[in-house]
Amino acid sequence: MFRKVKGFRDIFGVEANYWGLVEDIAKRAFRSFGFSEFKLPILERVEVFDRGIGSSTDIVEKEMFVFKDRNEEILALRPEGTASLVRAYIENNLNNPPGVKKYYYYGPMFRRERPQKGRFRQFYQLGVEVFGSTSPLTDADVINLLYSFFEKCDILEYLTLEINSVGCPVCRPSYRDKLVDYLGDKKELLCGDCQRRLHTNPLRILDCKVESCKSITSLAPLMIDNLCGECNEHFNDTKKYLDFMGIKYVVNPKIVRGLDYYVRTAFEMTTDVLGASSAVGAGGRYDGLVKTLGGPDVPGIGFAIGVDRLVDIMMQKDFGLKEQIDLFAVIFDKESLDNVLPVINKLRKDGFSVEFDYETSSIKSQMKKSDRLNARFAIFFGEDELKKGVVTIKNMKNSTQNEVEIEKIAEYLKAQTA
Ligand code: ATP
Ligand code: MG
Repeated sequence: MFRKVKGFRDIFGVEANYWGLVEDIAKRAFRSFGFSEFKLPILERVEVFDRGIGSSTDIVEKEMFVFKDRNEEILALRPEGTASLVRAYIENNLNNPPGVKKYYYYGPMFRRERPQKGRFRQFYQLGVEVFGSTSPLTDADVINLLYSFFEKCDILEYLTLEINSVGCPVCRPSYRDKLVDYLGDKKELLCGDCQRRLHTNPLRILDCKVESCKSITSLAPLMIDNLCGECNEHFNDTKKYLDFMGIKYVVNPKIVRGLDYYVRTAFEMTTDVLGASSAVGAGGRYDGLVKTLGGPDVPGIGFAIGVDRLVDIMMQKDFGLKEQIDLFAVIFDKESLDNVLPVINKLRKDGFSVEFDYETSSIKSQMKKSDRLNARFAIFFGEDELKKGVVTIKNMKNSTQNEVEIEKIAEYLKAQTA
């Protein structure tokens, strides 16, 4: 027997219904904020991520699935969407004509992490990117979208919106020096990863989940206390607009985001119902990224939502989604199929989910199949009834049944379910 690859999953049954629900809510929410869909490839040249995400990040250092193709090109399964979308924005010359461009994407991402609750090697992200605006109003509206999306998913009670400013190339280097000074003489107390990060990516130490590192950084200098005037104003305006929008957030000065490309606003939606994997969505501003990847100097901001984790929360809350069909057609006699099949097709066109028994076995076994499929109604196509132009419809929940004219089935069902 073959088994799936470690960290990869099969998703089906009721869980798949939750995925469908989330996808529908997302598409509606993103469109309502003026975003259009972008379908991106899953494979990219590895440089897109090396350059885009940064070579000293966890993702690039140890998490990417990378392989050499037959033509010697080095390719990577995308570990995230932003660098790919920026590559596509540049390649398709989407800053021309200039202006604010808003895209969303959805699909699988791949990271070779240690699998655990809420952490897989193939996982799905729903993400958005806005190009072409440095206004803090953009930051606020992007965060607003993230927040509204979770509100529409009806799980805000499990979530906290945390925001921070990670500064910019003007104020970050001197802050970075301050932080390295502070951590330098405590180096021996840091975990192995953080000792290395002290030279490669010291800000990331603030975000380390190891307890000893957390206690060492508890008194470390913070970026938000060391912002330049412009970053400070940008952060204050962003918070002001969030207040205007009625969005509840907390400032968490320890948010750094794992990726190099972030500047100024960084934010996360976190939860405590998923064990150690606490972020359900995260994002930030990345004004230098388009240029870094060889494009024009166009600013950007976006976020990505971890759909696997989101679905986990929705299933914990239990919205009562079931595997269910609307109608099961019980066919008494194969000879009547010429009358029955058009009725079934018409009902499907009217939007009902309709199933029937391809084997047209005994009535008893058809009823069993109907139960197994969790049909809400059974429609009995008896011979005598068909001659009269009627069917019997049984409500499987309360067992009431009625004779209904074939022409009026849809109308009858709509009234029953209203
Ligand atoms: P974490 O701190 O949990 O590793 P991250 O900072 O690496 O998250 P991002 O790169 O910001 O995550 O991705 C955005 C979202 O994608 C995360 O908030 C999370 O919900 C989801 N995500 C990231 N990695 C995984 C994974 N391996 N499995 C499932 N979901 C993931
Ligand atoms: Mg990670």
